[in-house]
Amino acid sequence: MIKETRAFQAETKELLNLMIHSIYTHKEIFLRELISNASDAIDKFKFKSLTETSLLKDKEELKIELITDEEKNLFIIKDNGIGMTLEEVSENIGTIAKSGSKAFLANLEEAKKTGDLNIIGQFGVGFYSAFMVAEKIVLETKSPYSDKGVKWTSTGDGTYDIEEIELKDRGTTITLYLKNEEEDKEFLQEYKINSLVKKYSDYVKYPIMYKGERVNSTNPIWKMDKNDVKEEDYNEFYKSTFHDWEDPMFHFNFKVQGNLEYNALIYVPKNPPYDLYTREYKRGLQLYTKNVFIMDQCEELIPQYFNFMKGLVDTDNLSLNISREILQKTNELKTISKNLEKKIISEFEKMMKNNKEQYIKFWEIFGKNIKFGIQESFGMNKDKLKNLLMFKSSLNDEYVTLKEYVDRMPEEQKEIYYIPGENIEITKTLPKVKNALDKNIEVLFLTEDIDEFALKTLMEFDGKHFKSINDASLESEEEKKEAEKLQEENKSLMEKMKSFLGEKIAEIKLNPSLGNNSVALSSKGEVSLEMEKVLSKIPG
Ligand code: ADP
Ligand code: MG
Repeated sequence: MIKETRAFQAETKELLNLMIHSIYTHKEIFLRELISNASDAIDKFKFKSLTETSLLKDKEELKIELITDEEKNLFIIKDNGIGMTLEEVSENIGTIAKSGSKAFLANLEEAKKTGDLNIIGQFGVGFYSAFMVAEKIVLETKSPYSDKGVKWTSTGDGTYDIEEIELKDRGTTITLYLKNEEEDKEFLQEYKINSLVKKYSDYVKYPIMYKGERVNSTNPIWKMDKNDVKEEDYNEFYKSTFHDWEDPMFHFNFKVQGNLEYNALIYVPKNPPYDLYTREYKRGLQLYTKNVFIMDQCEELIPQYFNFMKGLVDTDNLSLNISREILQKTNELKTISKNLEKKIISEFEKMMKNNKEQYIKFWEIFGKNIKFGIQESFGMNKDKLKNLLMFKSSLNDEYVTLKEYVDRMPEEQKEIYYIPGENIEITKTLPKVKNALDKNIEVLFLTEDIDEFALKTLMEFDGKHFKSINDASLESEEEKKEAEKLQEENKSLMEKMKSFLGEKIAEIKLNPSLGNNSVALSSKGEVSLEMEKVLSKIPG
């Protein structure tokens, strides 16, 4: 049997050091972190047991237990989740590879610079947060895939002991030897434990038992009437379930009844998940049936362009003992997903009307995803999404929707004008744009690479085509005639210039509407100069 002492990684040491020695204002969150780990572990076990039915013993109840011993100054948390093998313990507990701790470390540098260690209190810090209240931690665990148990012990001072032990039951027990300080001992008080569970972990879906009684809510938060749930409760549930350290931007709560029945709770994070724009990122919502967790990150529930959303769907229409493979092919899931997609889009449309400020906040962070949505799959979703688009307008520098634009278009204007350019102030100095501004013609500023591609995919809105202001002719009949005359008069000069520049240009034209500018570059055909720039960045 293995028994040895190992050193923590350097990063882990640094984290622990901070945890133990910083004046930390949010010590109490250790309980939330341990409970959320226990709940995750039960989720994982639950999922395995769906296909490996022999894992779940008869009548076994999946739960989390809290035990206190005032005399010995011990706080114990126990779960019958998936447990860990020896390898898993040293991988998961000995290193900082895990999300919560990683985010913490990313912010640590910032905290050190400003000297404001309080900000670390805002972050989910995972298992190690227990060292804020404990001088020693013993973790005992057993995986259903190992016949030995594991005991991990550390005082957080740079090393930990790890050994194989005999253990009967599957799951994890964590014993905290609390520091001998009054404020830490408070965590042994019944009222304190009850209130912390209520505050941070009330909607954990498995029973949290303390002194023989269940202390968390028996009703899942997504099934409650929204008028009975406080905003903080929705936010706490979000943070502990979806591993974010800040409150979400907002959430939607759907209760759909009729032929198709489901509950959904959908969160939009305040910031994109740190790995959102990487290949490794996996989208998806949690799936429940009849309040029971089936799986995490069910991709089929949410379209790619909503990949930043977190949340869950609970439906009574699925059977509990369904395997992942079959699940993904069921029509119920597809129907729910289609319906949910529609509902979310319509919530956004409502938000645009009733709470534009909120929508703009959303748009500035996640608008890119909607634009990608329009472009992807050959524009399959463009009609669903086109009403969600907004661009800054040349009239007032404020966001305008395509509908608003079209509604206030003068009758003689036939097309929707836009101009690509990252920086609006610079864009405004372009001759063609200046000309449009002078004539009070509304132009949409396309500030992101993707914008023009998205409009090209849309092709039109409300029967109006999109046109770059560069290609638009804003001249009056008179001005046009004048230009033709000038062109004719200067024919030989034009021809000389063209023959001198040769293949580098397609055409050279006199343009009376450039104001004080002597020349302007433009492109001919479907691909604008800006699109060419973007395309030339794409490798291959
Ligand atoms: P995170 O929860 O963000 O992954 P933590 O520091 O809270 O980070 O936990 C680290 C890892 O340790 C978890 O991802 C999990 O693999 C493992 N772990 C922690 N607590 C338990 C537990 N009660 N049962 C099983 N595994 C656990
Ligand atoms: Mg955790």
